[in-house]
Amino acid sequence: MECKQEQNLKDCPCTWSDCPRKGLCCDCIKYHWGRGELPACLFSKEAEKTYDRSIENFIREQNSHK
Ligand code: SF4
Repeated sequence: MECKQEQNLKDCPCTWSDCPRKGLCCDCIKYHWGRGELPACLFSKEAEKTYDRSIENFIREQNSHK
């Protein structure tokens, strides 16, 4: 299977433009999960901009929508 980086880049909502993992979803999730974090695409536009990718921030955001 070929890498879908180019296709993934079209959908990637991450605003951290210098990241070398952009569009490489496998590396992206491995990197963030290893730090107790989640990738940008799981956050809302507003939360993504804070660059707080912590699981706590994800849960906080989910609970704020209830
Ligand atoms: S979510 Fe993190 S690893 Fe993924 S593209 Fe953005 S800054 Fe890079």
